[in-house]
Formats: sequence, structure tokens, C-alpha cells
Amino acid sequence: MNQFQNNLKLALVLMLGLACAPKVSPISTECVVNEDQSTTFKGRWAKQPVPLAVEVNDFNDDELGEILAAINKWNEFYNQSKGFKLYLSGSNPLGVTGTGFTRVSKANVCSQAIVTPSGFSNSIKIYKNRSGWTYGSQVMALTSLCPVNRGGQFREFTAAVMEVNYQHYFVAGTPKPDLQSIVIHELGHILGLDHSCNGSDCEAAPDEYVEAVMYPALGFDGINGRVKRNLMTNDQQRANCLY
Ligand SMILES: [Zn+2]
Repeated sequence: MNQFQNNLKLALVLMLGLACAPKVSPISTECVVNEDQSTTFKGRWAKQPVPLAVEVNDFNDDELGEILAAINKWNEFYNQSKGFKLYLSGSNPLGVTGTGFTRVSKANVCSQAIVTPSGFSNSIKIYKNRSGWTYGSQVMALTSLCPVNRGGQFREFTAAVMEVNYQHYFVAGTPKPDLQSIVIHELGHILGLDHSCNGSDCEAAPDEYVEAVMYPALGFDGINGRVKRNLMTNDQQRANCLY
């Protein structure tokens, strides 16, 4: 056992395939968990909203807009479903930290809890990983979560970091994923959702799992990544069980 045993790593991987027309689901306010998805939760934040910071010196304005749109997608859903926004919102919705943060090494993610008894002492981080990507070239993004057991129904997160693979994607001559789709998926992990299916279960997964934003892979149509920006009923029903 090592010190990273509770450091969950949830990866979004590349999948080759043809894109389909984006689908839209109406807002669902019900908590529904299919039996075969009963273990598709990783934990939750005990306090809301969840602060979110991005590295302002690295993401450009267009990218920040995509990240903000992804945040707003979840916020709008929870606002309609639960009457609150999970992620920070307002005049500074990204919780931007001025000169940017110092990259938190993976080794330190879980040793630096950002949750205190009175609130949050720091922010979730989202950063570009331009070099030294160690999770495999097929992995487009990866979120690390740090859950602890505090006796409730869900384990509670103490920290989270999202890394986006800018070594193998978003660079000239490589397939261009849809950043907003990726961030929506990774934010789903940060709020507590695991994938809609896992491993070999995905091979026979029903359409509602495949179409969910929390499906573990995202296809390409030629060089452009599939656009998957809408929270589907399956995503929403599971998300309603967390908060
Ligand atoms: Zn994922």
C-alpha cells in the first residue's frame, strides 16, 4: 500500500467512432439509480458550492469560456433540480486566482486537503498538462479525487485536481477534442459521479449509458472530437442522488 491508495484516478479516453447528432434531455429532478449503476458513485462534497479555480496564466480566453460553459451546465442543472449551484458562480465564476496557482503535484493532491470544518481553504484546480503526461496517450483528461470515510452514505472529498492532456491533444497535427465536452465529463467526476459503465460492462451497455456524458470514452469524427455537452437523463438522475 502506498500513500496514494485513496487517490482515485478517473480517465476519459479516446474512442474512435462516428459522431452522432447531439441529444438533449429534459431536466430530471428525481434520484434514480439503476441496479447495475449502484456503485457508480465516488463520493461527494460535504459543503457547497464547490470552489473552482483555473490556472489563468495558461488557459486562454476561449478555453476559459469553454470551462465556464461546462461549469454553468452543471450549475444550471442543479439550480433547476435542487435550487442551488454546486460550483462557484457570480462575477468571478471561475474563482480565478490572479497570477495563477502553482501546479499541485499528484503526490500532494490528497495530502493537501482543501476542506476545513468552516469551509474551503483552497480551490479545486484545473490545469493543462503539456508535458510528462503519464496516463497514456489515449487518455484525454484525468481527475484525481481524495475521498475519506466520515460515516455517511457517501465518502467525502477533501481535494480534487483535473488535468487536461495538452501533450497529445489540442496541439497542431493531432485530433482536436471538444474541450467543453471533456470538462463537463470531468466536472461530473469532481461532483462525485463515476462512469455510467465500467470495463467490460460497457461493451453491452444500454444506449442511455453510452449517450451519457459520463460514458468513459469520447469519439472523434475525423479530427474533430465529438460534441457531448448535454447532461442526459442518466447523468441527471444519478447526480440528483448526490446532493
Ligand atoms: Zn471519466
